[in-house]
Amino acid sequence: MTEVLGQARAGGFGPDHPIGVAVLGMGNVGTEVVRILRDHADDLRERAGAPVVLRGVSVRRVGVDRGIPEELLTTDAEALVARDDVDLVVEVMGGIDPARKLILAALNAGKSVITANKALLADYTGELAAAAERSRADLYFEAAVAGAIPVVRPLIQSLSGDRVNRIIGIVNGTTNFILSAMDETGADYDLTLKEATRLGYAEADPTADVEGYDAAAKAAILASLAFHTRVTAADVYREGISRITGEDLETADAVGCTVKLLAICERISGDPSPDKGGKERVSVRVYPALIPRKHPLSAVDGAFNAVVVEAENAGRLMFYGQGAGGAPTASAVMGDLVMAARNKFYGGRAPGESVYAELPIAPIGDTPTRYHVNLKVADRTGVLQAVAGEFAEHGVSISTVRQEGHDEGARLVVVTHHAEESALADTVAALAELESVTSVTSVLRLEGTEE
Ligand code: NAP
Repeated sequence: MTEVLGQARAGGFGPDHPIGVAVLGMGNVGTEVVRILRDHADDLRERAGAPVVLRGVSVRRVGVDRGIPEELLTTDAEALVARDDVDLVVEVMGGIDPARKLILAALNAGKSVITANKALLADYTGELAAAAERSRADLYFEAAVAGAIPVVRPLIQSLSGDRVNRIIGIVNGTTNFILSAMDETGADYDLTLKEATRLGYAEADPTADVEGYDAAAKAAILASLAFHTRVTAADVYREGISRITGEDLETADAVGCTVKLLAICERISGDPSPDKGGKERVSVRVYPALIPRKHPLSAVDGAFNAVVVEAENAGRLMFYGQGAGGAPTASAVMGDLVMAARNKFYGGRAPGESVYAELPIAPIGDTPTRYHVNLKVADRTGVLQAVAGEFAEHGVSISTVRQEGHDEGARLVVVTHHAEESALADTVAALAELESVTSVTSVLRLEGTEE
């Protein structure tokens, strides 16, 4: 036992005055948090400086056997949070309310909070951080982004002396599982989603995952940390994967790429117009995009997550691992819990919210990206010229054009250089009007190229 246990420290914690923990929610993550708290009490005591004791667990339904003494369970989360012997609150119930009210109650009472709730943080970090600041309590949320992967703390602490320019990540396991399976088997989206649901990789209602809401919440959190600017879910441009087809994966493969749902947070250069003041801006977006097979993110398969951070001095860093699941997520929660417990014992504090830069958010229309445009065309001379003419007309520069098939199956696959979304949208609208273009089959962005 460490020497410090012999004496009470800041807050009076010590061998006879343990640090009390309330866990809100005992589902996938809460069950594992409770298990680790109970199974590893000795290690946790040594690491935190004082015993860390589970005071209670709040759930919706009691009377279900959860493998812990019944007296630890309650449906009255409010009363549990308010208990005098609760010093730390772990929120793993999810949703906005009552989670938000309970976290605020804990913080207002000076109790530190550890949460995995990305949906809540993506909209309410400002309010929660202000409450933590007022009462000098801690707010930790490593588990809210990419499960077990340490990426929040590296951004807040390890890179706090650097300048992050870009984050590009695969932060949703369900969509990555689906796209990896489509890439491997050539099957279409609907069939693959069904299989993912059967195997437990997709929820019965998969909307939050497949439409990109979950990834957008994580992107908002990452961008806020990276750019010292408050970014909420509403600031994130979002497209999901439900319109991706087996053919998209096939055409991506033909140009040495695969398709991934990417969360991208980047600084883009300032708008030179006088009213915008030339200030640097932040672009935060989630969409499916082609990515070259030689890019490290293309090798991230199945339910795994990875986040690549590019910083001015550190260069490129890659964080990879299990982005979800009870035990992996609980690992991140427990890391935060030990930090918060140590702060209670030794008297330190978690870093507060840093939003001093206040960079403006760039609209998606101003965000330059490369594009992969797939067209069904008439099989006759002059088509290529007409198509290329529309790209030139709208100021979108072409990188490569590939012609495929004959007669009814004739297609053109155009890959552009960087172009603004608005210019590309105008080009596509004009292409659709061309007599020689039967249909614009798909328009996908291309990310992760050196250009
Ligand atoms: P879950 O399995 O659905 O468990 C939720 C738990 O909270 C259940 O025990 C439920 O009680 C309780 N609960 C829900 N609403 C409640 C309410 N209104 N009042 C009282 N108790 C309530 O959720 P989870 O998968 O563990 O996720 C928890 C949080 O972690 C979410 O914010 C999620 O986004 C985040 N997270 C999860 C993962 C993951 O892999 N699962 C990964 C990263 C982050 P009953 O048991 O009685 O129903």
